Amino acid sequence: MQDMGSAWEHLDREVAETPMPAEYSNLYREVLCKDCGKSSKAGFHVVGMKCGECGSYNTSIEGPFLRKTGSDFVALSETDLQGLYAVPLPEGEGEQDTEADELNDEDEENSDDYEDIEEETDDEGPGSDDDSIPSLD
Ligand SMILES: [Zn+2]
Repeated sequence: MQDMGSAWEHLDREVAETPMPAEYSNLYREVLCKDCGKSSKAGFHVVGMKCGECGSYNTSIEGPFLRKTGSDFVALSETDLQGLYAVPLPEGEGEQDTEADELNDEDEENSDDYEDIEEETDDEGPGSDDDSIPSLD
């Protein structure tokens, strides 16, 4: 089996470097870990949801948003969710696509026009069939 430890450490760093909006700070979701097969409540984060059992990020979200109040988890109401969706989420730092538009200016204006190819075949054959060959006597 693959050792994903280093991958998870990388994600740990990314999570740490990607602060979530305050609105999300106490939010958890129930996740099912695909590595250890256990379900746990993971702090909601755009980078990834970490299994509370084995630390894997190879998880799938199983439950709705939960807010941790004290030691209880309370499901969010519709209005809570509406408010949440209005909050812009940060983007994972590591995955940034620097959309550097590289020089894509391949001008094709100089394509020569080869449309002038003559297709006239003016073949009359070598020598015309003339019976009027002058016979020199
Ligand atoms: Zn796990």
